[in-house]
Amino acid sequence: MEANQITVTSPLLPDLNEFNELLKEIWDSKWITNNGSFHRRLETALAEYLKVPYVSLFTNGTLPLITALQALRITGEVITTPYSFVATTHSLWWNNIKPVFVDIEWETGCIDPNKIEAAITPRTTAIMPVHVYGKPCNVDAIQAIADKYGLKVIYDAAHAFGVEVNGESILNAGDMSTLSFHATKVYNTIEGGAMVMHDEQTKKRIDYLKNFGFAGETEVVGPGINSKMDEIRSAYGLLNLRQVDAAIEARHQVAIRYREALRDVEGITFWDDLPGVKHNYSYFPIFVDAEKYGMTRDELYFKMKSQGILGRRYFYPLISEFSTYRGLPSAAPENLPVAHKMADEVICLPMHHALSEEDVERIINAIVEK
Ligand SMILES: *Cc1c(COP(=O)(O)O)cnc(C)c1O
Repeated sequence: MEANQITVTSPLLPDLNEFNELLKEIWDSKWITNNGSFHRRLETALAEYLKVPYVSLFTNGTLPLITALQALRITGEVITTPYSFVATTHSLWWNNIKPVFVDIEWETGCIDPNKIEAAITPRTTAIMPVHVYGKPCNVDAIQAIADKYGLKVIYDAAHAFGVEVNGESILNAGDMSTLSFHATKVYNTIEGGAMVMHDEQTKKRIDYLKNFGFAGETEVVGPGINSKMDEIRSAYGLLNLRQVDAAIEARHQVAIRYREALRDVEGITFWDDLPGVKHNYSYFPIFVDAEKYGMTRDELYFKMKSQGILGRRYFYPLISEFSTYRGLPSAAPENLPVAHKMADEVICLPMHHALSEEDVERIINAIVEK
């Protein structure tokens, strides 16, 4: 990395001395994985922080998606969004489920509830929406459809750590929600993830499933997987939980400055905070209208790159454009016009807790000065 490069994200790292102290505790206990004390402490601390009843830790954010589908015995077809990270759809593929792509709303980037019903067939068993960029999906409209047709709802909430609507965690929506604690996310455990569920029974079942299906020393209750988080990353996670509020506030300040500076730039649009929503500022997407801005998204993206500013065309290409999925009938571009427009216009600007004011101004200047 060059000295003057601005990266799109930067991991939130715990204080090394504090981490060392916890490592010493782990070394002394000689308990390094398998539901140790740090694992249990982190699950409790996360449930409290996130205002959810139950959390089960995982070793990354993809396995809870795969495991949720297993736990709910989802089969056949699942309605999902093409505008996400590819792991969302991969989790369906790994369960032998046919993904059915439905278009998104321009206002949120999330799946458009008005287009879900038309995609339901007798084989549909669930909906897998994504709170993309941490913007809450229209969970009430989605639940109403799910209830009407008897479908399960699993939210990929990888971007939605700490997001609340009117004081309630968005993670309480649907049957289950999954989180990613990957290094690039707002809150990280290096690699890691979690599942959020509403009752003790489900929590128990998920805890079995992430440990090979073991329900006791000699009892296996199902074909489980291994997705346990170890003690070292659990301890790291406990420390990061103490500083995540400050990190989110630092991101908030960057968002305020971006909005102030870019509000009147012709051809550049972005989203404002929604009333009643506690945002986590996990990403700052802007949308480039080539005609009005006088430059295409790619021209701006590569110009920024040449100045050492690493934005991301996130999510481009759409999941429905990857070779694995583009043969599906629902992957046809005519079926997904809004998602295609967003994928063609988006740049996620650098957004993290450690961006300096100088860097933010450099990023703004790259966009404002043509
Ligand atoms: C990061 C991410 C995942 C996958 O999480 P990992 O921890 O990297 O396995 C899944 N879905 C979305 C939307 C993501 O952004």
